[in-house]
Amino acid sequence: MTTTAAPGTATVPGVTIPGPATSYQGDIARYWDHEARPVNLRLGDVDGLYHHHYGIGEVDHGALAADSDAEREERIVAELHRLESAQTDVLLDHLGPIGAGDTLVDAGCGRGGSMVMAHQRFDCSVEGVTLSAKQAEFANQRARDLGIDHAVRARVANMLAMPVESGRAAASWNNESSMYVDLGDLFAEHARILAHGGRYVTITGCWNPVYGQPSKWVSQINAHFECNIHSRREYLRAMADNRLVPQTIIDLTPATLPYWELRATSSLTTGIEEAFISSYKDGSFQYLLIAADRI
Ligand code: SAH
Repeated sequence: MTTTAAPGTATVPGVTIPGPATSYQGDIARYWDHEARPVNLRLGDVDGLYHHHYGIGEVDHGALAADSDAEREERIVAELHRLESAQTDVLLDHLGPIGAGDTLVDAGCGRGGSMVMAHQRFDCSVEGVTLSAKQAEFANQRARDLGIDHAVRARVANMLAMPVESGRAAASWNNESSMYVDLGDLFAEHARILAHGGRYVTITGCWNPVYGQPSKWVSQINAHFECNIHSRREYLRAMADNRLVPQTIIDLTPATLPYWELRATSSLTTGIEEAFISSYKDGSFQYLLIAADRI
């Protein structure tokens, strides 16, 4: 008899992992369990850091010069990956002073690229949660390969009920993962796990209340990723309601556009490039970093 594991449930002997809390979370677990887009995997293969987020910074056009189409493609892949790691570096820059004894929490950790970079920078422990058992297994295998599995661990868990003791985290973050949950619930949970004075950071796409309502492009992005993009206003309100006081807000929109424009010229397009580029340009969508103190 064959049995099909429920989405998001890992088959670790002796360990019971709760199933998804809602049908929606089951859908999201399934989505990420099956996600294997070349744009994510080929970029990760460059240096073993696997990201599921976008890039920031100027494109180094000199680095793209190539004699053949195949070579140019390879250079574009390396350049897009460099910009995605630069995005993580900016997130890590905002965590505040972190020491080797500290624990950080990556909420919605994907394949774990940001966790590895955080450990490499601070020599600290990093706990990640994802709904996808495939992603958690992948991240833990990478940690074993790098010999850092004593410090970097991904678990299948809901970021609205993280398996982390109250006040344990020196800092925590969502890197492009806050659009899958209610922000009030999410920030209440971060406030619970963070130490007093700890730092919370998110990098996220959000719709711009100055534009009015979510544009057709934002609706397309929601449908593409099965997510629910929140507005800038909702982020700030939900933080204020949950003891998270913004310390820095950076509009990364101008910094992410070159990444999208380069990506749109590659063969790794996924069809969503036009929606991102158009909405960043018409002002309906923004790429934001918010760093907040847990008071
Ligand atoms: N932060 C990672 C991955 C971003 S992709 C990176 O920067 O590479 C979005 C991630 O959010 C996926 O790993 C997905 O499993 C996770 N996610 C979405 N909803 C979640 C929830 N309720 N609990 C835990 N993880 C969740």
